[in-house]
Amino acid sequence: GLETRELSAWFGDHKVLERVSLAMAPGEVTALIGPSGCGKSTYLRILNRMHEMVKTAKLAGEVLLDGADVYAPGRRPADVRSRVGMVFQRPNPFPAMSVYDNVASGLKLAGIKVTKARRDELVETSLIKAGLWIEVRNRLRSPGGALSGGQQQRLCIARSLAVEPDVLLMDEPCSALDPTSTRRVEETIAELRGRLTIVIVTHNMQQAARVSQNCAFFLATHDTPGQIVEAGPTTQLFEDPRDARTADYVNGRF
Ligand code: ATP
Ligand code: MG
Repeated sequence: GLETRELSAWFGDHKVLERVSLAMAPGEVTALIGPSGCGKSTYLRILNRMHEMVKTAKLAGEVLLDGADVYAPGRRPADVRSRVGMVFQRPNPFPAMSVYDNVASGLKLAGIKVTKARRDELVETSLIKAGLWIEVRNRLRSPGGALSGGQQQRLCIARSLAVEPDVLLMDEPCSALDPTSTRRVEETIAELRGRLTIVIVTHNMQQAARVSQNCAFFLATHDTPGQIVEAGPTTQLFEDPRDARTADYVNGRF
């Protein structure tokens, strides 16, 4: 599983996260919710070391992947990113590259060399896990950009899965998709659950309730950095929240 302990983050002098401690259990889906600007995307990026691409970024605290510090001296960001995949709000396949090569590019980016037979197998199993195989099995040589938006998002999920990661991070993966495509991605998340640790950022409370078992509510104010107000089983946050601000947020009164 994945865990942060007392994680704080700054951009220059601007503190954006304050002592965020959260355990994300393997085999479960954790939803991160909260208003715009509360630090959800920043938190997600810190989990797979994408955050350090921003030169002004600073961190304190720990990120532990199966108990080992993701930011340990000598640990390579590429090693972390091959075990912790990320899917973004806008589907971003390589549009001119074939469906097959898009999925296989996940291996290449991680520097993983495999035989042709093994690559064929990983591409197929990744597309099956992403719920896209049946739709694209006869279109593996078509450009990724020729797929529908929802198919492109599942193609990006398949690309992340090709390296057989332990964790899949998803930053508002459905907010650019129509309701039908959203359903397909949610079905994919439900199928994947149990195989790995999934963390999803969403502004859609119904979606959080449908896909997640655990939920963390983040909040920032004009003078306090993003913090977790409340975290726990999704049913508890939605049906019996401990904090009045959680109740207000999940009921759309924010
Ligand atoms: P949204 O729901 O709108 O996506 P969010 O919860 O994902 O919001 P973040 O994008 O993590 O919020 O932003 C948290 C804070 O960090 C904001 O105040 C934002 O302006 C700031 N921030 C994010 N990225 C950078 C950056 N590269 N440089 C400086 N400040 C940044
Ligand atoms: Mg965001």
